[in-house]
Amino acid sequence: MKAPKDIRTLSSEQLVAELKVLGQPAFRARQIESWIWDKGASSFDEMTNLGGDLRVQLIEKFSLGRLDTGETQVSKDGTVKCAFNIAAGQIVEGVLIPTSKRMTACISSQVGCSLACAFCATGRMKLLKNLTGGEIVDQVRRLAELAQEHHGKGLSNIVYMGMGEPLLNYRHVMESIDRITGTPGLGMSPSRITVSTAGIAKMIRRMGDDETRVNLALSLHAATDEKRNKIMAINETNDLDSLRDAIQHFYTKTGTRPTFEYVLLRDFNDGVEDARALARFATCVPCKINLIEYNPIDDGEFERSRPENTDDFQHFLEDHFNMIVNVRRSRGEDIDAACGQLAGKG
Ligand code: SAH
Repeated sequence: MKAPKDIRTLSSEQLVAELKVLGQPAFRARQIESWIWDKGASSFDEMTNLGGDLRVQLIEKFSLGRLDTGETQVSKDGTVKCAFNIAAGQIVEGVLIPTSKRMTACISSQVGCSLACAFCATGRMKLLKNLTGGEIVDQVRRLAELAQEHHGKGLSNIVYMGMGEPLLNYRHVMESIDRITGTPGLGMSPSRITVSTAGIAKMIRRMGDDETRVNLALSLHAATDEKRNKIMAINETNDLDSLRDAIQHFYTKTGTRPTFEYVLLRDFNDGVEDARALARFATCVPCKINLIEYNPIDDGEFERSRPENTDDFQHFLEDHFNMIVNVRRSRGEDIDAACGQLAGKG
């Protein structure tokens, strides 16, 4: 017998159609969606306004999965890391990052990653699975609960910067965004959501064509093809010219300024020439720059940039090119929750 279909993978239209087959009116679909996406129900039995017969039919026909929450760890800086058990031996992690102004949930889009960037721990794992929209939304829901429990407030921002490459799981990521921003759903503003990509030119263009309203961050990390090829194999098929074109297309279609992310690696990409190359690339659109402190991973191939080089790099871009530059300090390092450290170690 075929495994029952996860009801959370159905679109609103598909759910209406499925219910019609069961002789049910369309408003039942709204009720069910409200249970799933507003109230976070984890079983059909909770859906008390449906009537017993329909609940039995739903139980026979569909499954209603919920992400199984694993261990939670709290860093001394208030960062909270939460493991989610996807399947036997498959774990993803979500991270809650509190700052004075924001409460950011950093969520995963895949178990593992296919890209193997040289500086990232997740890339050592290979790709095991694309998460479904529901599995992504459940991370947000759980991190929102943890935000209340640990810090007494709700989420202000969501970043797709955990494990995986969101643009290689495009359909499910967009489904999750619809549920996070929609009603029934979590009703968050898309302007509070950022999708971060290692640079899949075709899918960046697609985000433009789809006129998405979320923010886009491109993990640049080097602004010449020669250097970028050395640390990000994806650059061999998605080079800087193709990314520049795609980003311009995205900006023209959406009017949203992209962010360029740049991990500063000591004596590799943190010199004045590197900053000049970054500025040259980044002037292709109005943008923001996020300089990221490198978090060392096991093999020690790279080191964090010296503090004075980080400062010089930032000020060079600000003073000579009038750019908006933020330095993203490392958070949650003591619990392996910092950027690039998520690898399902728990
Ligand atoms: N695949 C997506 C999202 C996941 S990574 C992407 O590449 O953008 C989120 C951010 O953390 C990216 O900018 C990534 O390059 C950065 N990152 C990866 N490893 C890191 C490390 N060891 N230290 C600091 N940042 C890292």
